Amino acid sequence: MDHKLKREHGFIHIPCHELDIFILSDGYFGVGYHQPILAPGIPQDIVKGELRNLYLPDSYYEAPINVMLIKKDDRIILIDTGEGFYDEENAGQLLHSLNAAGFTPESVTDILLTHAHRDHIGGILSQNDDNVFPNARYYISRKEFEFWMTGEPDFQKSKNPEGGKPGIPIVRKILSAINSRLTTFEMGDVLFSCIQTQAAPGHTPGHIIYTVNDGDLSITNIVDVLHSPLLIARPDWGTQWDIDFETGVETRRKVLENCYQNRTLICSAHLPWPGIGYINKVNDEFHWIPKVYNHPFVINLKTEPAIKAV
Ligand SMILES: [Zn+2]
Repeated sequence: MDHKLKREHGFIHIPCHELDIFILSDGYFGVGYHQPILAPGIPQDIVKGELRNLYLPDSYYEAPINVMLIKKDDRIILIDTGEGFYDEENAGQLLHSLNAAGFTPESVTDILLTHAHRDHIGGILSQNDDNVFPNARYYISRKEFEFWMTGEPDFQKSKNPEGGKPGIPIVRKILSAINSRLTTFEMGDVLFSCIQTQAAPGHTPGHIIYTVNDGDLSITNIVDVLHSPLLIARPDWGTQWDIDFETGVETRRKVLENCYQNRTLICSAHLPWPGIGYINKVNDEFHWIPKVYNHPFVINLKTEPAIKAV
């Protein structure tokens, strides 16, 4: 086996009651320095100062791609598919992690797509255009599907209106290829009796976050509301990756406040691996509190004091 692959895949198991949740690593993306992708337009010395305050590297930015899988009876529900072959340098490791966790691509029955950016749908097709998950049905919010597939996607409210355009043909190709197996839903719908979806617009128009519920346990995946602990401390600094920058800031603030108020256990597509933790607030500033766990592969929620404590 390739030494590099061996090093970069991995998984975390979160046993619940009826459900087994897994976080699978697809690797990470490295995009050089934070700006202008994060904090566009903010003076560099101020951003570097904040990065140092947060003990984050101030000379480079990379973020993991964390993918959730839920096993519910005989259903294997994957949520997003990682980068696939589009970034073989650092990402595209999902199938190795899936295997390590004891699953095969053939065993995946359902795939929920949170939004149609490449790092979430890139793993659907192989380089030869074969279906990587041959037995899966797909689900995406109607609003997200229509944004990409109907008319010309509008990026005018982004801080980098030209940046999204090269991705359009890739999104259209992938969503067209799975069209006969794709179901659209309304944001707010409950899927598979255990996933409460919720609109979180800004990053994309039909971007969803979701809460997985299993009895008294729950975990909320905030997906791409946040791409770095930097944006937890400075939610208004925003990101060029949001198709509607201002709406992205508004959604980020709202989600952070709700998670703080409710002591919500959250999981995220791009916060530091495995992307599980809490939002705290000190002197009116939000902070990331990573979830403590002591086994390299397992997070035990049944001893979790904070779950639904408020
Ligand atoms: Zn993403």
